Amino acid sequence: MKSGDRRRLLVSSAAAALSATAAGLGAATAAAPLRAALGGGLGDSPARSGLSRWPRELWITRPEAQESVRAVYWADGALQPEGCRAIDRIYRDLRAGVERPISTGLLNLNYVMQCAVAQCWSARPMVLLSGFRTPQTNRQVGGVEPSVHFTGKADDYIYAGLSFQDNLRLAWLFRVGGLGVYPDRGSLHKDVGRARIWVQHGRAASSGPDPGLRLGAGR
Ligand SMILES: [Zn+2]
Repeated sequence: MKSGDRRRLLVSSAAAALSATAAGLGAATAAAPLRAALGGGLGDSPARSGLSRWPRELWITRPEAQESVRAVYWADGALQPEGCRAIDRIYRDLRAGVERPISTGLLNLNYVMQCAVAQCWSARPMVLLSGFRTPQTNRQVGGVEPSVHFTGKADDYIYAGLSFQDNLRLAWLFRVGGLGVYPDRGSLHKDVGRARIWVQHGRAASSGPDPGLRLGAGR
């Protein structure tokens, strides 16, 4: 098996195992049916569950601010305030100097994606290009309104050292809400809001090819 094929297989299996976790963890709407399916066992006794005690760390770098953080935002069945604050800080609106809490669902999505990257390539930080945005900053950067960036549920990012196609493949496998593809900028948008996909070349939005179709072709 060629290394590229093996890598794709690894990504696929990691994604299959973890994407359901990404969708369910921290999402209040998803928790209710899961709790019912487990007979009330989900979240009621986190201390008894080794899975929920497992620490979740994020490694994020923000080139624009020349900052980097490695923070455990979840451990012992609970959010870790210090780790969350460090992540909120690096996700802040750099222009406005304003920070807001970042969605736990987005943190969990980042966590499982980072696990897959570490397993299939090697451990590396997510390069964060934009996180929380005030409406004013969003207008300045030409973002659409209303934006999920306003609510701390979105980020623009890339994993350095992976090809853009591999980044796109990863984002597609782990998609939970929105997935925006910016080939000219070499970056991706992801969020835990409403499910939708778009491709934008330059500043003009267009309905580009479904990235899933391209990924399905194995390129
Ligand atoms: Zn975005």
